[in-house]
Amino acid sequence: MDRIHIKNLEIFAHHGVFPEENALGQKFVVSATLYTDTRAAGRSDDLTQSIHYGEVSQQIQNFVAGHTFQLLERVAEALAEELLLTVPRLEQVDLEIQKPWAPVGLPLETVSVEISRAWHTAYVALGSNLGDREAYLKGAVQALAETRGCQVEKVSSFRDTAPYGYTQQGEFLNGCLRLRTLLPPLELLDRLHEIEQAAGRERKIHWGPRTLDLDMILYDGQVIDLPELTVPHRDMQNRDFVLYPMEEIAPWVRHPVLGKTMQELAEALRAAEPRA
Ligand code: ADP
Ligand code: MG
Repeated sequence: MDRIHIKNLEIFAHHGVFPEENALGQKFVVSATLYTDTRAAGRSDDLTQSIHYGEVSQQIQNFVAGHTFQLLERVAEALAEELLLTVPRLEQVDLEIQKPWAPVGLPLETVSVEISRAWHTAYVALGSNLGDREAYLKGAVQALAETRGCQVEKVSSFRDTAPYGYTQQGEFLNGCLRLRTLLPPLELLDRLHEIEQAAGRERKIHWGPRTLDLDMILYDGQVIDLPELTVPHRDMQNRDFVLYPMEEIAPWVRHPVLGKTMQELAEALRAAEPRA
């Protein structure tokens, strides 16, 4: 992607672990690489189609001077989040925060922390088969939309599905949504669990009845194999209640391991078990 650079912006601020640093202040030097598509502005010569580096520089100055944190890590993290949340068209930011006068007591030139943060796209499957199922699904969409660093971009229709796995239970209502998110995968999983808990979910029977089930289906094109998180969701290709809503909102998105689009996977499943 195209990049706009802001190099070595000097800011007097008060971050540090020592109380003297917080009282006296010192020089910080910030470099930012802003990732955005400059093609439209490059063709039109119209600033409103790009990112205004003057305004972003001012925003960085105001933020870094206007807060007091202990750690450079915290300055970088909070500033990256602020920029990604507020600067339109900003997809990713690389930030380096230098502290050339850091009280180390040795003749070094500078110390710095450098991070890279970006918006990601995740797909989440929603299901409920207890109580007011539609209210649980809508509540989950709402809770995700209100989560800091999460924007719900698309929601599929909700459909009734016969239970899967443990079949002695009520019909499910299922759907999927597309999320634009700043949360890394494990933090998003934690957030999904919190929302399930808030909906009164109890984990009694595996695949048993539940007020709300939220599963991470895809996260960018990433393949994640951790004890607590498998992405793409390990069984999605066999679940019509995942594939049919995914086909509706993301037909051309490709499964990064199986190499097939959501539409192709849905069609394969329809051919194998024509139950819907
Ligand atoms: P299921 O969704 O298969 O009915 P649960 O909702 O009870 O089962 O989830 C069991 C565990 O599965 C969760 O605690 C979670 O750590 C793990 N898990 C692994 N991969 C995923 C994923 N992609 N999305 C959601 N949970 C996952
Ligand atoms: Mg689940």
